[in-house]
Amino acid sequence: MENKADSRSDTLIHGTAAGGTVRCMAAVTTNLVAEAARRHDLWPTVAAALGRTLTGTLLLGGTLKEFDRLTVQIVSDGLIGGITVEANAKGQVRGYVRNPEAHLPVNERGKFDVGAAVGGGMFYVTHESGYDLGLYREPYRASVPLVTGEIAEDFAHYLMKSEQIPSAVVLGVHLLPQAPFVSAAGGLIIQMMPGADDTIISSIEATVRQMPQATMMIREGATPSDLLRAALGEIEFEIMGEKAVGFECHCSYERAASMIASFDRAELESMLHEDRGAVMTCHFCNATYRLDEGDLMRLMNEG
Ligand code: ZN
Repeated sequence: MENKADSRSDTLIHGTAAGGTVRCMAAVTTNLVAEAARRHDLWPTVAAALGRTLTGTLLLGGTLKEFDRLTVQIVSDGLIGGITVEANAKGQVRGYVRNPEAHLPVNERGKFDVGAAVGGGMFYVTHESGYDLGLYREPYRASVPLVTGEIAEDFAHYLMKSEQIPSAVVLGVHLLPQAPFVSAAGGLIIQMMPGADDTIISSIEATVRQMPQATMMIREGATPSDLLRAALGEIEFEIMGEKAVGFECHCSYERAASMIASFDRAELESMLHEDRGAVMTCHFCNATYRLDEGDLMRLMNEG
């Protein structure tokens, strides 16, 4: 499977409102969620869960500094078995779930029961600065218990408990009954920073509650800026940055080969003589790398 194509065809924006006391991020992520669903052969409830987490992680990392990386990991006891998503400052995001085929009936509101599929557990955030430069700095790590497993509430709870930032978080994935089944995905995060006016906070909470469903707006052609306009109502905002985002993995044949080369001699011998080759599958993007006998012999001779 080819990973090199630049597939950043979705958009993320970040901005401020109310004199800088409100920070806002919004994204349309339809293509990248569809790409994740296709690569991992996701069943619908799982596509909704991973799609929301991919979108939330991109939004949370919307103002990452160059070379930084953000990882959101959900470790839970539901059928999905856990979710891992990584986003970087370049707008690349990748992620996977433990069980791509987890399935549950729709809930009483006719929605995919993401909360039940995820179950109870923990929500972990890791921020590595300078990661892409190969610098090692102590990563910033924080965790909170999951509240509903519906993902948006869990991002909001994390921001409140861990960063003391009251936030409105909207994350949506809309699916069609047949392939290509992701028809819309996107969301927004609005953060009330220290000094934000109470009346502004309550006004934003009210407009977010009343705004049309984000995925419905996206299916009708809404941009990230349209989503922020709907969420902020009368409050003016200024867009400070915009970037293309996409599902992209950094795995490669060379990385897979160097991983295999690090195995001990006996393991390599057994791969060579018993399996007559080796197969490595990348968790993040499901790409498969095959090494034949000749490849293995070359690795053993180099090592
Ligand atoms: Zn990969």
